[in-house]
Amino acid sequence: MKSSLKIFTIFGIPIELHISFLLLMVLIYAAAFIGFISLYFAFLLTLLFVTVVIHELSHSYVAKRYGVGIERIVLFPIGGVSAMEEIPKDPNKELKIALAGPLTNIIIAVICLLLVLILGYSEFITLTSIFLLNTGETSLALFLINFFGVNLVLGVFNLLPAFPMDGGRVLRAYLARNRDYLDATKTAAKVGKQFAILMAIAGVVLLNFILILIAVFIYLGADQEYQAILVSNMLEGVLVKDIMTSNVETLNPDNTVNEALYKMFRQKHMGYPVLENNKLVGIITFDDISRIPEDKRDTLIGDIMTKNLILAYPEEGVATVFEKINRKAVGRLPVVENDQLVGIVSKTDVVKTLEMLEKQRIMS
Ligand SMILES: [Zn+2]
Repeated sequence: MKSSLKIFTIFGIPIELHISFLLLMVLIYAAAFIGFISLYFAFLLTLLFVTVVIHELSHSYVAKRYGVGIERIVLFPIGGVSAMEEIPKDPNKELKIALAGPLTNIIIAVICLLLVLILGYSEFITLTSIFLLNTGETSLALFLINFFGVNLVLGVFNLLPAFPMDGGRVLRAYLARNRDYLDATKTAAKVGKQFAILMAIAGVVLLNFILILIAVFIYLGADQEYQAILVSNMLEGVLVKDIMTSNVETLNPDNTVNEALYKMFRQKHMGYPVLENNKLVGIITFDDISRIPEDKRDTLIGDIMTKNLILAYPEEGVATVFEKINRKAVGRLPVVENDQLVGIVSKTDVVKTLEMLEKQRIMS
């Protein structure tokens, strides 16, 4: 099921809006329509989201230049997320990718400020106009100052030295220049957590609920980043061929849903590659099949299977494959070599491998 809607593509990167985001926009404009907030304020909020897209695009653009594949950018109510392949563990590249977003915002802020000064609007610069608190009247001056404020806040906020903010990555890249990547991540995550605790204390003292919420978000994010690097470190050197299942059970496009279901229940596998004349043409999972109503179980697998395949290769690192599985939210990938299906690797395979590696580590 698609939970986001593509609106346009720029630099070859699709920009998508998540459903929750679309609902938020409807709410905002409904609020403006009934006069709860001004239409200008609704417009400013829209502008804030445009700014978030520009921010994410800047990261993606630089990453793309370093050869990192960009899946898409999805806009959520809390911000934008660039779905990209693993960022190279090269401190210099990571530093530039991480800095690109906040720097773009700061550049836009500077341009707005210059325009305000050139146009002689400096008298309108007040704290209330910078932080979008004065939205009663509309004018070019106010608009420029508001846009300046939005970009300044977004740029500076993202430079906070804490994961999952860009500043956390900048800090890690800085630390990784003369120490081990995992160690650098550990230290950066620790700094992020301390930062989150300070922020939470400030939030309690100031009775600022939003600050407390952001603190919790940062605290959890710091840990996640460290765990992700720990996992990819543990999986280093483990190849797909080491953990894949070689004797793969398959289905063909002419099999019916009923036949597939029978096979699934008997063999207790949740997904099967689909072969036609020995050639891999698709993959079918229990999820796909459970969507077919009971009276339509004579539907052919070929009509409902996923044809857009994400593949794994025997010599590929399991860390990369695990990242692919998580990013695409799939359960398993077919493994191919010379256009031939040679195995299947599932999320469960990777998790089991991790558990074994962890036990081995504790024992030694
Ligand atoms: Zn960013």
